[in-house]
Amino acid sequence: MDSTTPSLAGKTALVVGIANDHSLGWHIARRLAAAGARVALAYGDERLERRVAPLAESIAAAACVRCDVTRDAEVEAMFATTDTALGPRLDLLVHSVAFAAREDLVGEFPDTSRAGFAMAMDVSVYSLVGLVRAAGARLEPGASVLTLSYLGAERVVAGYKVMGPAKAALESTVRYLAEALGPRGVRVNAVSAGPVRTLAAAGIPGFRELLKGHAEKAPLRRNVTAEEVAEAAFFLLSPMASAVTGEILHVDGGFNILGV
Ligand code: NAD
Repeated sequence: MDSTTPSLAGKTALVVGIANDHSLGWHIARRLAAAGARVALAYGDERLERRVAPLAESIAAAACVRCDVTRDAEVEAMFATTDTALGPRLDLLVHSVAFAAREDLVGEFPDTSRAGFAMAMDVSVYSLVGLVRAAGARLEPGASVLTLSYLGAERVVAGYKVMGPAKAALESTVRYLAEALGPRGVRVNAVSAGPVRTLAAAGIPGFRELLKGHAEKAPLRRNVTAEEVAEAAFFLLSPMASAVTGEILHVDGGFNILGV
């Protein structure tokens, strides 16, 4: 553990949304574990188990659970598992989940179907509310919640389509949750990450060009790494950010400040 950063020894963490070792959620989970937190991992689909189970083992995770966040019963069951594995208190909750149907990413935005729009919102936005709601009193004063957003929430990014309105709603949800949970001493924040090669990113048409353009134009003239995203997530989750809530922290090499 790095002696210059706070220890999370004695803290419990649940990271929801790990697909493989490229997942931003995985990098965050690993960072939290390295700081001494007891971490539980959740993945969305049974086909991911063979990739996620070895990752869980590598950080001696307290639990590794399958949970489709659109199913309330699975969310409840996940918390029942973490109660056993982590105890009744959850200090750190990470939401690293997003999904949009392929046809709504490759098509023209106005052709987004009602069902596709609703699904993107359910999986990528409501799930944050659903997790916080189901976590309930497990989130005690001092607890911290974190989600992941992208610039497509604020600006039009070619190829991002229905995920743009979904991330805009997610960022608004962060603010409303922060206001609602603040009196309980629970903080809610987001990292707005620059593009990183992951499974979810592979579904965005033109992602390769997006990465190239980002590296060429970002003030830091490079892309960000998953480790850098995890480091900022660690900051927001840790006591270092004890007065920060409702914040959307850009971790994008400064790309978001650019105009023309
Ligand atoms: P990823 O594919 O590794 O993670 C996305 C996760 O969402 C996967 O584990 C997937 O299984 C899960 N998921 C989808 N539907 C689910 C469901 N119904 N129930 C439970 N889990 C479900 O990709 P990632 O890039 O690490 O994405 C994590 C988060 O980071 C997402 O919110 C994404 O939008 C955000 N983000 C990614 C980038 C990037 O460039 N990779 C940039 C900014 C923000």
